[in-house]
Amino acid sequence: MAIANIRSTMAIVDLSAIQHNLRRFRTLVGPHVTIMAVVKADGYGHGALPVAKAALAAGAGWLGVAVAEEGVALREEGIRAPILVLGPNNRNQIAAAIRHGLDVVVYSRDSLEWTVETAQMQHRLARIHLKLDTGMGRIGIPVGELDQKWLSRLSHPSIEWRGLMSHMADADDPDEAPTREQLKHFLDAAEWIRQRRGDLPQWLHLANSAATLRWPDTHFNLVRVGIGLYGVAPVPGNWGLIPALTWQSRIAMVKSVVPGTSQGYGRTYHAIGYERWATVPVGYADGYFRALSNRAVILVGGRRCPVVGRVSMDQLVIRLPNTLDARIGDVVTLIGSDGGDQITANELADHAGTIAYEIVTRIGPRVPRRYLHGS
Ligand SMILES: *Cc1c(COP(=O)(O)O)cnc(C)c1O
Repeated sequence: MAIANIRSTMAIVDLSAIQHNLRRFRTLVGPHVTIMAVVKADGYGHGALPVAKAALAAGAGWLGVAVAEEGVALREEGIRAPILVLGPNNRNQIAAAIRHGLDVVVYSRDSLEWTVETAQMQHRLARIHLKLDTGMGRIGIPVGELDQKWLSRLSHPSIEWRGLMSHMADADDPDEAPTREQLKHFLDAAEWIRQRRGDLPQWLHLANSAATLRWPDTHFNLVRVGIGLYGVAPVPGNWGLIPALTWQSRIAMVKSVVPGTSQGYGRTYHAIGYERWATVPVGYADGYFRALSNRAVILVGGRRCPVVGRVSMDQLVIRLPNTLDARIGDVVTLIGSDGGDQITANELADHAGTIAYEIVTRIGPRVPRRYLHGS
């Protein structure tokens, strides 16, 4: 048995913020578009199950996961809502998905054959979404290869063709031309299918968070919202989203140092004058990137305190402002608000040379999650 969460470092997830964000997207897309809450990678590090429940309670109609196992885990916790496995699946994953009533993506000849074989073996219907590659170049049938053969394969009695989808490569880019082109490929393919088949599958979906915010033409009747649900804006602008995650720790030690004192591995920082330093029990093994060494700031009492020296595996050190009376046990904020100030995942990402998605999904399993409950 694991002991209770007694660590000073924790991630606090505000589920009412998740629900607020879901409703923001609802306002944006209108009443006729269904929202898929994407909860892959353990709900972008926030916890897949609590986020899924909060999102469904606030009106999400679908859940999206990356791998079958994530969907199975949600089913085993009693989630009955439709779940789409967004990523590629091997045979074992397809078998697990079909057995647990998850929708799968068909993105290649092989993926369709495996899906048909598995459905037949299990005497079940496989619910599939056909994925077209309109320019992302990752998975999907290149739009140019869509032909009559594909349509006849998809009319197999073991297949329930539920959706037609594609994925945007750069909906967040100020250059709009590539997105317009992807949208055009998608519309052309849909029209080609409609003409030959007489109708289209029930669900048409193309938009991630950025496209949902910036490209109303991509909404169709289902949008796949990930990062925005967590209150992290994928594109600049005031979208009225609230970050759901606060990452906190507490000061473990405070000391005064004389000019020239070195800090940490490699002695990459030396005290400039008489300084006060505080040790914080968070490191790169918790997901606080080593690339943030001598770059990021952490909030203490609403003040910005620079990270000095290298972030090590389990600890880091910050420099306290001379006028701040900080003590052992005081709360420090790595991501989130304190006083009038705020550190966003996007700010940390800029310092680390990455994107906010990587910051939140890498907060490690060693960091306990605490939940503030929504409605
Ligand atoms: C992750 C993912 C999404 C969600 O993307 P965000 O940018 O986080 O909104 C949507 N669709 C697919 C296929 C994905 O893999």
